[in-house]
Amino acid sequence: MKTYRIATIPGDGIGKEVVPAGQQVLEALATANSNFRFEFENFDWGGDYYRQHGVMMPADGLDALRDKDAILFGSAGDPDIPDHITLWGLRLKICQGFDQYANVRPTRILPGIDAPLKRCRPEDLNWVIVRENSEGEYSGVGGRVHQGHPIEAATDVTMMTRVGVERILRFAFRLAQSRPRKQLTVVTKSNAQRHAMVMWDQIATEIATEFPDVKWDKELVDAMTARMVNKPATLDTIVATNLHADILSDLAAALAGSLGIAPTGNIDPEHRYPSMFEPIHGSAFDIMGKGLANPVGTFWSVVMLLEHLGENEAAARVMKAIEQVTANPALHTGDLGGQATTVQVTQAVCEAIAKA
Ligand code: ATP
Ligand code: MG
Repeated sequence: MKTYRIATIPGDGIGKEVVPAGQQVLEALATANSNFRFEFENFDWGGDYYRQHGVMMPADGLDALRDKDAILFGSAGDPDIPDHITLWGLRLKICQGFDQYANVRPTRILPGIDAPLKRCRPEDLNWVIVRENSEGEYSGVGGRVHQGHPIEAATDVTMMTRVGVERILRFAFRLAQSRPRKQLTVVTKSNAQRHAMVMWDQIATEIATEFPDVKWDKELVDAMTARMVNKPATLDTIVATNLHADILSDLAAALAGSLGIAPTGNIDPEHRYPSMFEPIHGSAFDIMGKGLANPVGTFWSVVMLLEHLGENEAAARVMKAIEQVTANPALHTGDLGGQATTVQVTQAVCEAIAKA
């Protein structure tokens, strides 16, 4: 029997509620499936750890994660700690330390979810957004000079490397090729930003020749927002830069009904290091500790984690259980207009897995 070693990092806020729920779902799955088991190790890193130790995670933290098969992450964010510390001190440290250069965000309108686009049928919106996760606008290159003086200035450098752009585009074309519609939309702002974005477009044209069976087109990011709302069915796989995809994927999550159900994977496609899966929502301190958090975004992240491990049948089993539960409005949490609790939704998904 195979054993998968999973690191759990609940982090802050409702991460502490949804990650244990995700672990329960994996345990229910292992009970129902005799081919594999999970060995969990939990890491209490985040805001509370920072208050005690002055850092979000220990200096040798990456070493503790290195031999895991995957990481299930909650959220990093704390009202009392500046964002640059919570973000750069934990999540980004793991993403960069393990070169998780592809951030993958599937978006669908799940059964029973009341999505805001009234003219959009659920089958019209079935996207995967691929976000470049290692450089670009979030390269960290830049600086600030003459603070407090009239000549104060600051820069953030959008750094695109050929290696970085080639590998994310190749990943996106390959993903598009694996989906039934074999269709990719490459998003930039190459009419206004004339260097890095133009290089991105050019490299897309080069990589496309390796994938003659993938239909692809280019879209400017501003036009893309309108297209997502007006013509969702014309899109399938989408690839964009770090900043653009960050924004587009929040729009996508909202169009699919709620931030609380959207998942993401920070993936090292080469499997050199563990990949990390997490709901896209943040720490949501306003509902923390009340048992109100929607765990579906974490469960869907668990589905992605299983797919990454190659356990496609098990992944499909969990996804089916999630869809059975979202289809029942009595099992909707507050963000979906319902009154169900985290515990009720978790139990229902675990039961559906057991029965499948
Ligand atoms: P962070 O600073 O870590 O990003 P945040 O307070 O901005 O956290 P988000 O998670 O980004 O919170 O979400 C914004 C709001 O959406 C939350 O305040 C919360 O009310 C709601 N929300 C987000 N995720 C969920 C969820 N899983 N279940 C229920 N409501 C949610
Ligand atoms: Mg937020």
